[in-house]
Amino acid sequence: MSAIVVIKQGREKSLLRRHPWIFSGAIHKVKGQPNLGDTVEVRSDKHAFLGWAAWSPHSQIRARVWSFEEHAVIDQAFFVDRIGRAKAMREALVAPNSNAWRVVAAESDGLPGVTIDKYDNWLVCQLLSAGADVMRPLIIAALRELFPDCSIYERSDVDVRNKEGLKPAIGVLHGEAPLEPVVITENGLKLEVDIVKGHKTGYYLDQRDARALIGKYAKGRRVLNCFSYTGGFGIYAAKAGATEVIQMDASQDALAVAKRNAELNGITTPIEYQQADVFEALRTFVKEGQTFDLIVLDPPKFVDSKASLNRACRGYKDINRLASQLLTEGGILMTFSCSGLLSAELFQKVVADGALDANRELQIIEKTQQAIDHPVAIHYPEGGYLKGLVLRA
Ligand code: SAH
Repeated sequence: MSAIVVIKQGREKSLLRRHPWIFSGAIHKVKGQPNLGDTVEVRSDKHAFLGWAAWSPHSQIRARVWSFEEHAVIDQAFFVDRIGRAKAMREALVAPNSNAWRVVAAESDGLPGVTIDKYDNWLVCQLLSAGADVMRPLIIAALRELFPDCSIYERSDVDVRNKEGLKPAIGVLHGEAPLEPVVITENGLKLEVDIVKGHKTGYYLDQRDARALIGKYAKGRRVLNCFSYTGGFGIYAAKAGATEVIQMDASQDALAVAKRNAELNGITTPIEYQQADVFEALRTFVKEGQTFDLIVLDPPKFVDSKASLNRACRGYKDINRLASQLLTEGGILMTFSCSGLLSAELFQKVVADGALDANRELQIIEKTQQAIDHPVAIHYPEGGYLKGLVLRA
């Protein structure tokens, strides 16, 4: 018998709208004594069935719904079904051009707390909630069934696990140990991904579509790729005929990979690698009177809580102001924010404020969002976090 979580009168509305989170304050009482990650039955105070959810006793998000169907059973077949549907979409829409994609985008693919990325024959999992953690064996079994040729590695070394009462978990879940970085194919380019030491699960798959977009603008241009990580935007730009590229990142390791990525793709365009703090480097460029025809700003997440929103906005404004100052007439700025707590509207306003201070007229010519393998469930708007603007000076 599963424990039953009874929701306070009136607080069932979000569940009826298929939002998967149950906050502690919405719970009237719990019948039974569920353990961390157990599947609990969720009912209204009138005893109407609402969902099957995973119990997270240490988190403000006290339970996350696996299924809104009363007849559902959260077993291996459930995971095969959910992961299988997610896989089918990526195989149809991403796999023809790239062998690295997000297989499962957590809540947006109906699997709260479960992120799975595929890098060629490697699957890299992040299990971030108590439910996801406890279901590890079933998730591994489902993955082995759906991807019989893949090894599985875990990269659950993320702070949010603390909130769930979980420790970091890293290591091989099935198959081979990843002794060397994986070389993936992304839109025909070869890119090295270190799934053991790289950021997140190794690479920023969510920017794949935006990277592809730079090809349209890069020809004949001098390109500054800020926050380059392993060089993605710069490699695409060089391939598309940029005259010169500067890859800039704080991490020397990331720049070393960026260099190897240029070699892997036989790039002959002059590329400079600058290990620098982007804020400082842009200021120096302005002082020196440098200009660029195309600038990419793809910073890490500046906002990690509502309390840090104001400070983060100042950061976004700062780099966008400086980049605006550095653009040539007709120059292009591709600017992004992956902070989920910063709305697309507010981000656009912050960029506008930066342009105003720089005394530059910018036009939005395109808008971007996270790549197609990072869908946003319509009932879970929190799933949308990445936004971008392509601007012309
Ligand atoms: N554009 C990349 C992803 C960027 S991730 C891609 O397409 O793959 C953000 C990067 O910013 C990380 O590599 C991190 O090392 C770097 N970074 C963070 N703060 C920085 C700073 N102040 N100056 C320079 N680089 C920074």
